[in-house]
Amino acid sequence: MTEKKCLACGGTNLVPYSPCKVLTCGEIGFDYLTESFACVNCGHIEFYAIQSKLDKQLEHNKKEEERKKLAAEYDKQIEAKKAELEKLRSIIADENQTVKAVKEAENKIVDVENEIRGLKSRKERETCHRPFMY
Ligand SMILES: [Zn+2]
Repeated sequence: MTEKKCLACGGTNLVPYSPCKVLTCGEIGFDYLTESFACVNCGHIEFYAIQSKLDKQLEHNKKEEERKKLAAEYDKQIEAKKAELEKLRSIIADENQTVKAVKEAENKIVDVENEIRGLKSRKERETCHRPFMY
């Protein structure tokens, strides 16, 4: 972190000022999310993120990005399977298809439906949103 500087007067003599720490109510008691520093020159108070909390937040943001990317990847795969399903359904609906082709399509539909279910549950499992906890 760079040197702390007062935004009001430009002073650089800032001291920890705990009475003004911002509290947040977590699930278990209270926790500090910021550190506050008072400018010795003018009394202005500056807030700073606590580095460990900031690191945790950044790590969470990164995981969220990865989660979104993975979810989008699953969606793409699911859409492709759905398109395959439509194709198979049109084969079954087509009166000019042979009995053999229709039978094959019917069997394939079951597989593709299972694949879609599998993809959906994997997506659910691997990309479920986790709320951020400090
Ligand atoms: Zn100041």
